[in-house]
Amino acid sequence: MLNKADIVEAARSAGIGASDGLPAEIKLESKADIVIANGCELEPLVFSSRHVLLHNAAEIINGLELAMQATQAARGIVAYVKRIPEIDAAVQAAACGHAGIEIFHAPPFYPIEDDFTIACAATGRVVPNSATLAAIGVCVLDVETLYNLSRAAGGNPANERTVSITGEVAQPAVLRLPLGTTVGEAIERCGGAKNDDFRVLLGGPISGRIADDLSQPISRCTAAIVVLPANHVQIQRRMRPLSVMLLHARTACTACEECTRYCTRYLSGQDIEPHQIMRVISYSLDSLNKSITSAVNCHECGVCDIVCRMGLSPRVICREIKAHLRAMGWSTPASDIDGQLRTGFMKNRVPLEELAERLGVQKYVQAIDPQQILNAGVAPLRTVDGVMIHPLQTGEEAPAQERRKEE
Ligand code: SF4
Ligand code: SF4
Repeated sequence: MLNKADIVEAARSAGIGASDGLPAEIKLESKADIVIANGCELEPLVFSSRHVLLHNAAEIINGLELAMQATQAARGIVAYVKRIPEIDAAVQAAACGHAGIEIFHAPPFYPIEDDFTIACAATGRVVPNSATLAAIGVCVLDVETLYNLSRAAGGNPANERTVSITGEVAQPAVLRLPLGTTVGEAIERCGGAKNDDFRVLLGGPISGRIADDLSQPISRCTAAIVVLPANHVQIQRRMRPLSVMLLHARTACTACEECTRYCTRYLSGQDIEPHQIMRVISYSLDSLNKSITSAVNCHECGVCDIVCRMGLSPRVICREIKAHLRAMGWSTPASDIDGQLRTGFMKNRVPLEELAERLGVQKYVQAIDPQQILNAGVAPLRTVDGVMIHPLQTGEEAPAQERRKEE
């Protein structure tokens, strides 16, 4: 049986990160009484966690037990939204007979995948203002990290990433790609882009950032690649210069407070009110008042952007403020007062069926059968022209890369 030091070392030498970019060994070195395997995933066009849950449930349970051992946690919780019966059956079967492991069917709202939100929903514990999950004795690791931890314990490096590739591609798919595969190669693996003038989001249509170029490699943080027309609202929105965003914030914000009513971290008890940030930003970034510094509590989930009827982006403003505060060496002291959930934690949520429509991606969502994309297993890798790729599933069309070679 591996001890704490062995597990932490296995994670370190395998190079396991977490999808939030924080090396897993840092979380494993801490002490917790509950570890949550986070398999919640409700952002449209993202399927990676569900794919790992469906195909690698046994490894996830093994990784969860290793994480519980490392953190000395007595409880392990596998959290996911019960939408695909096969996933539920796979997890139930894998968890059966494992002492201390529970299954939590998470409420179906975006972003239940947010660490603070799932920790609160699954355990009832609320993180104090500006504190971390360690303050409530909870460690949250995403299911891909736990899958990698299980493999690392067997001496395998964490050199792949499960990636959903969707949007304007010929064959949307979930692939397990070697880290370092370029964005362009990943898109080619799905038959190429269907639109000549396209841009790529690394991440889903809410959380994603525009890829610099197609030669950019995927990393362990790349859960999704979404190809969209260059004139798509989600691309145009992200291409606005900051100066224009600030000007819009000054002139168009109606102080309606919707962004605060729906703010994920506000509802989770953190001290952040995006509508106040938008008001104060009109004056100066340099005035370090409480509203400005509260932006450190923003998790960049993007809900405020979705609900703002004026098309403003409190999320981007918060991101810029955080960068500004980091550059100034600012840090916010964590509160030692117990966190309190805000009224509306369960209620103030954008209905799932409206999410895709508000994001302008409903046609891509409708084009995908979740059962089909999830049930396609991940085939072993092989090499074509020095590039590691997955063999085709039966009946699939050859990817453009191979078609060109044959021609
Ligand atoms: S939702 Fe938009 S308009 Fe309303 S307060 Fe927030 S940023 Fe301003
Ligand atoms: S992105 Fe918006 S909704 Fe999400 S935590 Fe930040 S301010 Fe709140």
